[in-house]
Amino acid sequence: MLVGSMHLGVANATAVPIRIPGLPPIEIPDALVPAGVQLSPVHQAPAVVPVPPALQAPPADVVPQVAPPPQDPAAPSIEVPGLAGVQQWAQDQLGAPPSNNPILARTVQPASGTLTSPFGQRWGTLHGGIDIAAPIGTPIQAATDGTVISAGPASGFGLWVRVQEDDGTTTVYGHINEFLVDVGQQVAAGQQIATVGNRGQSTGPHLHFEVHNPDGQKIDPAQWLLERGVSPTWSQ
Ligand SMILES: [Zn+2]
Repeated sequence: MLVGSMHLGVANATAVPIRIPGLPPIEIPDALVPAGVQLSPVHQAPAVVPVPPALQAPPADVVPQVAPPPQDPAAPSIEVPGLAGVQQWAQDQLGAPPSNNPILARTVQPASGTLTSPFGQRWGTLHGGIDIAAPIGTPIQAATDGTVISAGPASGFGLWVRVQEDDGTTTVYGHINEFLVDVGQQVAAGQQIATVGNRGQSTGPHLHFEVHNPDGQKIDPAQWLLERGVSPTWSQ
């Protein structure tokens, strides 16, 4: 046991001093240093211990979002509008375009662009949605209020987002370039959830948009939008 300035009996000329702040130097004879271990001339505790990057607090933009607390089913439900709701309110005050009135049925056109392929039979198979061509990065809005049930890779679509309405209607957004929501997140109609991309089996930047009714059947999204009071503004 090495205590204080005690010298070992085998001290010799090449002993290496170890200094600990506040204590007298300690010398360790070379004979006691295990083979292969190199002692630097002076061992001193560094004044400041650097914190490895992995232990440092992450920058604010990578702090994960805190999920809302689970709702007590017995408690009365209080609907608090999120940012999208506030934006919606502001838009209502300013007057929403008549062709795209989301308040009517809480439904909006998911993207602006050019309708390049309708719903229906195409090349002998069912094209289960509509294609809206638009530049990469064009915002994609949730067509309805709902819960994000998919956000990530999908066969054929490259990346996709799926939003399920409370009644079971599901909207699908395929070939997206990036998604801005997480599975389980609540979104509001008109809230941006993704951007247009060209991923997966796609021949050009476009949104592939599907609507599945509560029974899981693919229905014509253009017809569905019309039935919900939305008159799409895309060119054909
Ligand atoms: Zn398509």
